[in-house]
Amino acid sequence: MSLATIGRKHYVSQSALEAVLKEVAACPEVLDSASRRGIKRARDSELDAETPHGPLVAKITVPVEVKSRKAAGDEEVKIVPTELPILNLMAWIWHVCQSMPGVAAFFQRQLSKYPCTATSPWRMALYNDEISPGNQLKASNTRKIQGYYLSFLEFDAEGRCQENLWFPLNLTRSSVVNKIQGGLSALTHILVSSESFLNLQSGCLLNMPTGERVMFFAKLHTVVADEAALKSMYDFKGSSGTLVCPLCANITSKTHGDLPANDHSGELHDISCIDSNLFVRRTDNQIFTAQALLARRQPMLSKKDFALLESSMGLNFNPSGVLAHKSMPLVKCLMWDWMHCYVVSGLLHVELSLLLPLLHVQGATFQVIQSFISEYEWPHNLKNRRREILHLFDKRSKPSEFKAGASQCITVYPLLRLFLLTHHFDTMDDELRRCIRSFMKICMVLDLLLECNRTGNLSPDELENAIRAHSQAFLKAYGEQHCIPKFHYSLHLPLMARDRPLISCFTHERKHRQVKQFADNTKKVTDWFEASLFKDVLGRALLDLSEHAGFMRPHLKSPKSVTDGTLLWHLGQTFGFQTLEHVQSAMQAEVCPGQTCERGDLVLLKTGSVAEVWLFCRLQHGELLALLSVLEPQGKNLFRVKQDGAQFMRVAEISRTCLFKRMSADSMLVVP
Ligand SMILES: [Zn+2]
Repeated sequence: MSLATIGRKHYVSQSALEAVLKEVAACPEVLDSASRRGIKRARDSELDAETPHGPLVAKITVPVEVKSRKAAGDEEVKIVPTELPILNLMAWIWHVCQSMPGVAAFFQRQLSKYPCTATSPWRMALYNDEISPGNQLKASNTRKIQGYYLSFLEFDAEGRCQENLWFPLNLTRSSVVNKIQGGLSALTHILVSSESFLNLQSGCLLNMPTGERVMFFAKLHTVVADEAALKSMYDFKGSSGTLVCPLCANITSKTHGDLPANDHSGELHDISCIDSNLFVRRTDNQIFTAQALLARRQPMLSKKDFALLESSMGLNFNPSGVLAHKSMPLVKCLMWDWMHCYVVSGLLHVELSLLLPLLHVQGATFQVIQSFISEYEWPHNLKNRRREILHLFDKRSKPSEFKAGASQCITVYPLLRLFLLTHHFDTMDDELRRCIRSFMKICMVLDLLLECNRTGNLSPDELENAIRAHSQAFLKAYGEQHCIPKFHYSLHLPLMARDRPLISCFTHERKHRQVKQFADNTKKVTDWFEASLFKDVLGRALLDLSEHAGFMRPHLKSPKSVTDGTLLWHLGQTFGFQTLEHVQSAMQAEVCPGQTCERGDLVLLKTGSVAEVWLFCRLQHGELLALLSVLEPQGKNLFRVKQDGAQFMRVAEISRTCLFKRMSADSMLVVP
């Protein structure tokens, strides 16, 4: 056991870790360095790897404004060049490929699927978000952090849903970012035009552990984040400005008066407009020109007039930002994150806050919904979510203010759909029918987007039809007044999906927890905060990659050697007795990254069938099998246990686990 990997299974604070280490008497290496410094040193040494491309961490210099009082009492602003850590991408990729066979194998697999050359480099995806560690209630949280992460579209859904494959690029306290001349946009510009970032365009020779040498090229392609982060990175006004959407030159919101009604050109449209042919799309050249125009007009106009000009262009003037430098084109790179559009104060919340009160009036109260949900059995990987979901429908919650986190939304919408499909309403008027119809349509959109997250499969046409159908149904049910800017943003998703995979930020929200824990454990916030936090997070990322890299493919959890004669006999009957050496079995398996299944779970198969899991096994050459009992469909989500349904199937055939309700000894109602 190396010192750096101790205490890694569950997060343990540095001081708790010290206490644990003091108790470990058997390992002399530990006794010698059972101190905070010892642990840090061990982690740092992982990061000290030298590569032909230099150290893993490089530096950028940013201009930070520092205010000071002059003798006369006036305030003076000085620019202090300040160094911040940045991931040396070339060195990092070279290092992980050279030293981690699992990661290298993954890279090689993806490289053979998507070969890259100088003219067709891999596409980098950049993600930014503000992370809030420390006391969430404090008015000034000095530990808030702007985090940048980076991955590649060519990693596919399989790779992008793994936290470890989003590499930390830079982590800087928000309080520092706010003092950088030009703010977040300026920092973003400095990052994406840094040597470390641009070097990958000219290629990097990777030495794979197999002896293969590969030239690797990559270039910035997609920027994904929530609206707030995109607004700050690109200096556009967004929902607070006259032009709500940075991608369209003619979409406005009623919060600024009824502009479309007063518009004589007939070109302006409200966010409730769902005919995408009417959107006047902006080009990057127009946006760059607009930013340049602001630069020219700023010295000539009064503050008020200049603010009006900015508002009419939907942009903020920022001479240090990515638009002024043309370093990160908006139209080409920006991607709305569908998770934020739909399930983070999103369209699903609007929908349910309108629908649930109507259901309440019709007798489908929260109590009724709660008791419906409580009858379901949960797969083991979602069991700990059951209580939170039931809690959403507590007596004290208001139907008109549906509040739920992103993952809760994802779990609850299929249950509500099934509730509505099976609940008997005494009276059902047209209004309620329209509202339920709109909800069913949003569920279909979410089905498609989640399927895309899981498998990468998405038909842009199908998504476009589903989103259009939902938008129409929503307008029919609730009218224009309930449209929010995300209603319009969602209409851009199919178009984005036509030239690249849609990325959602589920992975990142999980990743933030790690950063929060490290930031919380840093005792004092000093100028060294960034350097030390970055080392902690990067050290953790390296260890995670080296520990889990072999686990990127489906695998058994706590496997045991199979000695049971009957199981071996059945395997031999099915796959030939020559495959029976070193067979392992387990009650649990990770069937795809982050998704585990256990004996007794019901699973949806890729063929659309539903099956009960009995056991997992791994044959001699690594083939992973599940012993499943396929259920017989009875219609209307009902399934019956078949007496002769048991069979071995490849684990790759499993799509996901399902919630279900036992209707009788041999029949079950499955949540679709
Ligand atoms: Zn738009």
